[in-house]
Order: sequence, then structure tokens, then C-alpha cells
Amino acid sequence: MALAPVSAPLSTVDGFVKQFLQNLNFDIGVSLSASSRNDQYLALAGTVRDYLMARWLDDQRRQNDLQAKSVCYLSAEYLLGRQLDNNLLAARLTDIATDALAECGIRIDDLREMEVEPGLGNGGLGRLAACFVDSLATLGVPSIGYGIRYEYGIFRQTFVDGQQVEQPDAWLSLGSPWSFPHPEAAQQISFGGHTETYDDRGVTRSRWIPGWNVKAVPYNYMVPGYHNGRVNTLRLWRAVATDAFDLRIFNSGDYEEAVRAQTFAENISKVLYPEDSTPQGKELRLQQQYFFVAASIGDFLDNVLPGDFDLTNLPDRVIFQLNDTHPVIAVPELMRVLVDERGFEWDAAWAITQQCFAYTCHTLLPEALEVWSVDLLGRLLPRHLEIIYRINDDFLEEVRERFGDDELRIRNMSIIGEHPYRSVRMAYLATVAGAKVNGVAELHSQLLRDKVLHDFDEFFPEKFTNVTNGVTPRRFIRLANPTLAELITEALGAGWTVDLDRLRGLEAFAADPEFREKFAAVKAGNKRRLASVLHERDGLTVSDDHMLDVMVKRLHEYKRQMLKVLHIVTEYDKIVSGRATAADITPRTFIFGAKAAPGYAMAKRIIHLINAVGEVVNNDPLVEGRLKVLFPPNYNVTLAERVIPAADLSEQISLAGKEASGTGNMKFALNGALTVGTDDGANVEIRELVGDDNFFLFGMSEPEVEALWAKGYKPSDFYQSDDNLRSAMDLIASGAFSGGDRSVFEPILSNLLYDDRFMVLADYSSYIDAQARVDLAYADQDAWTRSAILNIARCGFFSSDRSIKDYIDRIWHTPPTL
Ligand SMILES: *Cc1c(COP(=O)(O)O)cnc(C)c1O
Repeated sequence: MALAPVSAPLSTVDGFVKQFLQNLNFDIGVSLSASSRNDQYLALAGTVRDYLMARWLDDQRRQNDLQAKSVCYLSAEYLLGRQLDNNLLAARLTDIATDALAECGIRIDDLREMEVEPGLGNGGLGRLAACFVDSLATLGVPSIGYGIRYEYGIFRQTFVDGQQVEQPDAWLSLGSPWSFPHPEAAQQISFGGHTETYDDRGVTRSRWIPGWNVKAVPYNYMVPGYHNGRVNTLRLWRAVATDAFDLRIFNSGDYEEAVRAQTFAENISKVLYPEDSTPQGKELRLQQQYFFVAASIGDFLDNVLPGDFDLTNLPDRVIFQLNDTHPVIAVPELMRVLVDERGFEWDAAWAITQQCFAYTCHTLLPEALEVWSVDLLGRLLPRHLEIIYRINDDFLEEVRERFGDDELRIRNMSIIGEHPYRSVRMAYLATVAGAKVNGVAELHSQLLRDKVLHDFDEFFPEKFTNVTNGVTPRRFIRLANPTLAELITEALGAGWTVDLDRLRGLEAFAADPEFREKFAAVKAGNKRRLASVLHERDGLTVSDDHMLDVMVKRLHEYKRQMLKVLHIVTEYDKIVSGRATAADITPRTFIFGAKAAPGYAMAKRIIHLINAVGEVVNNDPLVEGRLKVLFPPNYNVTLAERVIPAADLSEQISLAGKEASGTGNMKFALNGALTVGTDDGANVEIRELVGDDNFFLFGMSEPEVEALWAKGYKPSDFYQSDDNLRSAMDLIASGAFSGGDRSVFEPILSNLLYDDRFMVLADYSSYIDAQARVDLAYADQDAWTRSAILNIARCGFFSSDRSIKDYIDRIWHTPPTL
């Protein structure tokens, strides 16, 4: 190996080799010959980070000079996925790094496998935040993503006898080369204590006398824009004990107590709550929420704004986007800072605050609308509770002025709920405070206005808007599906990665047999790649000649994995009952990926059932291998990147009116899978764009769901009247999938029959019909391929770049500053 010249820049192979070896020797402290793969990975990551760092520093300086309006994206979750390839791609270093490592005798693929993805989110909400920071950087929008650096991210899922067992995700244990701490920029965050009033030159003011505090230490992640030299910041906060806190106790001579205090403080950023859609109202969770938003607001005011900034003009410099209700405690926090610390009059502070926040709602499920008990909130944040009461009093006064003493309306709109216990309704607080409130798909935004927040829509109609979610084409096409990306570039030229509407150009190619053949080869290659990943990772076998039918997303009753299970059992039942022979069945491999919240018993039972059905179906000789059920554990971004490009069929089968948007649905369509889906969330928009001929629609519409619910949903009617359904459910009930034990899955069946809010049985027959249409369509491979290409061509709308542009136009008004 030749020694690189001293001055070779990092963007040359020689320069990269030199920096890599230097990092290996002096940062990691090993020689190349003695280094482990992890050492090499860390040195590689460090080299990429060095390259980005120079641009990051430049950008910091430039943004500082410009003093443009910034977006502060506040999100309790960022489901980032692996960083190495994304950063190499953005910085155009992939080939250089590959060659440089080859010169050192290292295969970059081996190092890729060393990276543990930062799983700092549960599912779609956290992944959306990760797509958005990518698009913000790529579009050159001044912005900072703020969140929490959980020491343990989403649990690692394993299966023992088909049942989920959670393992801690110690993602930091082998080093975290992508972030750097800035202890000198720490913020002190207070909790507890009491409030008091005092006389300030004749004016009575309130102040908070906190009981305890912790230090929030920022860890910066560099977020490179794609090929634009831009590097934005994702700032995640870690909790550590404050020195003062320690000292006081140390001085009292209680060493053990001081250590306990340290642990207590650090608990705040210890672990991500693994609940998706059903918050548990735990005190530590409220601590996390306040911890990160207070640190973020403090950071922006103290460190990003110039020292002499007049906060009256704050709305010209920042918009805080609230990603769901998790950061909503930021609203009373900004009020507290303005009124108690910066001496603003209440009304002036409120006028500022109302322009500085916007709120994204992510749900339609009532149980997902976060509330905090007044008791708990008052104990942890007494001053904030007072502020919330005052905001509510003023707001309800305005409602009275407009609507008179309509007590029912007042009660319904109050930020304070009374039943079953006194609580703060965080979604209402966000709606009252936010300049804008958006849903995440057209249907969802409409349902927010019509139902969830109807009274508020009547009161502030101008606040409500929609921004349909999107996904980043850098990660979900370029990185996840490089052969498709090449094919697209070959057809359309470069540029589509940052202008996804250009995919429209593929429409013409859908009619070209040669292009279709190339596309089919890409899909086949992705299936082989997935087969090899699943073989290596889990010892699973994927056959080349099967349709890949994929349902990957969090396990939740509303997403209706059970409907998928009933379809599989129906197919199997046809064979074992002699109604069909295996030869009649289209060969299909069903792939599931799904984590269940550890406390969500029904979701865990469903996981158990899926594995149990797989165990039987996969091993029954009558099936002749024509049906396969695979459930690789631990679905995460890394697995998504392998599974989605290989899929033929995308399962998006939630009950209409329950899925806010979905983003998995977009990833599949953009990778040329056809969707079988309900008219729910963004499925509606996907279907409108790709056309009914290229989408398998089934199930009740949202108004039909409402009508059936109002009339009285009787699942047993569906069970009694549908022979296939009855037979499939009876097969499960017989113990066929539980070694003859009839009790194991009984709770699932009785739930479906007597207590199912998500109406699985009502949509069963329509779903089975849709699957028959899928089989028929799949039989004509060439026509299927054409539809797949049209799905890609018509889904450019679902780029998260478009979402961000919509946020800029409709909510933020923060032009790019490239
Ligand atoms: C995209 C994504 C999700 C969201 O999927 P939905 O089908 O929209 O629920 C969840 N988890 C991971 C790992 C993802 O990449």
C-alpha cells in the first residue's frame, strides 16, 4: 500500500486512506493489523464524520450570519436507521471509501454490518421525523431537530416458542461515532417544588421555586443534505446529574445518596417508552417530555439567537413544530420563560407564543390523545400547571363570548378534562396555542376537523390544514434499492432523487417490454438479496418463485394483522379440508415484521398466533411448500430496507378511519409493490394517484364503518353467515395451531367475535375477494410488472421533500437558505 501524501483531501482515495489510518491509530488506538472489525468501523465512521464536520462548522457560521427564520422540530422520537451509508451517499464518498478500504485490505460490506442502528423511535412517527430532518437538510432549510438521546432505544425483539421476548437495546455499547457531546452547552432543567408570588415594583408576579434539577447535555448529530454540501444539526439531549445537586449531598457526607441522585437524574434519558399509539401516563415520561423541550427552548434562546435579541420578534426567527403531543409542554414553558424570566406581560407573551408553535396530530384513536393528570403535572411542574389554567381560563372566556354560556360546549373544549380524573388534554392545549394544526393525510385532516377536534375547527377554522406525510427517496430508494435506482437513472437521467415528481417519466417506460424485463430482473434480484439476508440473519428460506406478500409495521389491533392471519388460515384450511389442492394455490410467502408494546397483551397473543400458524403451515406436507409464513424478529429500519424492495404485495389493511396516514404504504409503492388496502390514511391518496387498476381496494369506507357502528356491529352475524370465515376461525379454535390446546388463542377469537372495535370480521369477505383478484392479477406477470412500474411513476408525490415544501408554504414560511 502506497503512503498517501500529507495534504491529500478526504475526497480522494489517498486522503481518505490517510485519515482512516490516523483515526484507527490515534482515536481508536490500534494498528491496522491488530484492529477488529468494530475498530475499523469506528475509524471509518470517524473519517466520514471528519469530512462532514468541516461543512457543518461552515454551515453553523453561515446560518449565524444569516439569522434567518428556523424550524425547530420537536420530536420525542427519531427512528434514524443506520447512518454510515446515508452519510457516505450524501457526501458522495461511497466509492472513495470503498476503494480506500480496499487499499487497506478491508471489505466495506463487512464494516457496514457492524453498525447498530439508533432505534430512538417506535415506528412511523419516529421514522417520519428522521425523513423530515433528511429533507430539511437536502432542501437547505435552516432547522434544528431536537429530541432525546435515549441510552436504550426500542427493545430488540426475540421469539421464544413463538412468543415475543424483549431484550434491551444497548445501541451505545460499542461506541457511537456519529455524535459528539457538548457539555459546555448544557442546560439546567428544573422539576418539582412550588410557586410563590412576589411584588415587582407594584406588580404581583409569580415565580417557580423548583425542588430539584438535572443537567441536559446536548449531543450533536450531523445531518447532511444530499449532494448539496449542507449539514444541519440533530441535537439530542442526555440527562446527567447537576454538580450543585451532587455537591450538596456530598457535603452532607452521604456518598450513597449522591450516587443515587446521579442515577435518578440519568434515568430521565435512560429508555424510550416502547408504546406506540397507547401512552401510559407514566411520570418518567412526562419528565422526559419536559426535559427535552425545556432544554431545546433554552438552547435556542440562549445559544442560537444573538445575545441582544428582542424576543418580541421571536416569531420572525423560529417556529417550533410539535411532532404529536409529546412536546406540547413546550407551550407553557415558553410562556414561563417570557413572563417569569424575561418580564413580558401575559398578553404580549401569549401573542408571541401563539405564533411560535404549530402542532401535528398523528392519530384518530381517542386512547392515543395524551392526557396528564393534574395531580402529576402539578407535582412535577407546578408553575406550568398554573400557566395552563390561565391559558384555559382566557380561552374559555373567548368561547363564552362567541357562543354564550353553552356549558356542554365549554366542557367539551376545556383544556382541563374532568373524567375519569382531572387531567390536562395535551392535544387541546396544542390546538389552542398553535398557529396551525395539521393532520398527516387528506382523510385524516378532514376527520380531525369533522370529529376529533370539531369544536375547535368551528372556533378556529383557519388553523386547520393538511400536510400529507412522505418518505425520503434517499434512504428508501437510493440506499434500499440501488438496482432500481440505477434503472431509474438509466431511464430518466440523474436528478430524480431530489425531484421525485420526475418519476412520472417512467409512465412511458411501463409500456416498453424491454424496460419491464429489466424491472422484473431488479425485483428478482431484490428477492434473492432478501433471501440471503433472512437466511443469514434468521435461518429462514425464501423461494425464488413465490409472490412476496408483506405486512411490516407495529403490531396493533387497529392495523389488523389478524385479518392477514385469517386470510392465511383460510388458504391453509382450503387445502386441509380438501376444498382445494395445493396445486390450486398461488405460491405465496407471507412476511410479517412487527413489535408489540411489552404491556399490550392482545398484540403479543397475535404475534404468538402468527408464529404458531407459520410453524404448522410451513411444515404440513399437504401444502407442498406453496404457502410459507415467515416472521423475522426485530423489524427495524435496517430490515425494512431489505424487505420492502423485494415485496410484490403491500398489506395496508387498517380499518378505515383509524390509520392517520401510514408511511410504510408509500415506501412499498415507491419500490414497485402493489397495495392491497382499505380506503384509509394515505392509502386513499396512493390509490387516487396510481389508479384503481393498479391498487387492490377492499373493505368498508369510513362513513360505512360509522354507519355499521351506529347501527350496532354484530361480529357473530359475519361468523355465522360466512362458511370460509367460520371454518378458519374454528380451525384456530380447535387447537390446530396450538398442539390441541384450545385455550391458547381463545382470547383472540372471542375478542374478534364479541369485542372488536376494529371490525375485522366485517371486512373479511371483502378482503378475501381482493386477495382472489391479487392472485388473478399476479398470474399475468407482465401486466403485474407494468402496474408495479406505474406505482413508482405515480408516487413521486410521497417524497418527504414535498411534505417539507408543504410545511413551508402552509405553516412555517421559512424559505431555504442555500
Ligand atoms: C416506515 C416504518 C414504519 C411505519 O410503517 P407503517 O406501515 O406506516 O406503520 C415503522 N417502522 C419502520 C422500521 C419503518 O421503516
